[in-house]
Amino acid sequence: MLTSTLPELIKPIKLARQGLILKGTIPLEQMKRLTADAFASDGIVDVDAAFIKDGEGYPLLQGIVKTCVQLQCQRCLQGVDVKLEVELTLAFVTKESRLEQVPSIYEAILLDSEEISLVKLLEDELILLLPIMAYHDNCEAYQYRTDEELKAEKEGDLKPENPFDVLKQLKSNK
Ligand SMILES: [Zn+2]
Repeated sequence: MLTSTLPELIKPIKLARQGLILKGTIPLEQMKRLTADAFASDGIVDVDAAFIKDGEGYPLLQGIVKTCVQLQCQRCLQGVDVKLEVELTLAFVTKESRLEQVPSIYEAILLDSEEISLVKLLEDELILLLPIMAYHDNCEAYQYRTDEELKAEKEGDLKPENPFDVLKQLKSNK
């Protein structure tokens, strides 16, 4: 069993044979692509997973990976904590021709060598969860704006556009 800081490189096929439990953390700063747009990269990635073999002999990595990245709120431009959590069911294959045979309940991962980067593997999964735009759930800047917008709408309601005025305009334009 591996605990605390997890290794950078792993051998999935071998570890699945051994039934290794993968529980520990990876410093967020090792995931440069994931934190490219983040305010800080001093968090951790929590991994609670296990290498196993399923009934058909597929080497799997199953478990949960979670972290929290601080992105910029697109309303107030301050930092907002965005929680990312993914449930993994990765099946490893060593030949491209075998990719199609992997049951669809698994996400197939093609290994080009015996040893791969655990950090990259998990980072790829987390990147898929990144929102296109980050917002605070209750962003003050946004609330202020909606109040203003509501007020504008109310004022607009007091003088509704008369459809006949539009018609008149159309006629006079002729
Ligand atoms: Zn905000």
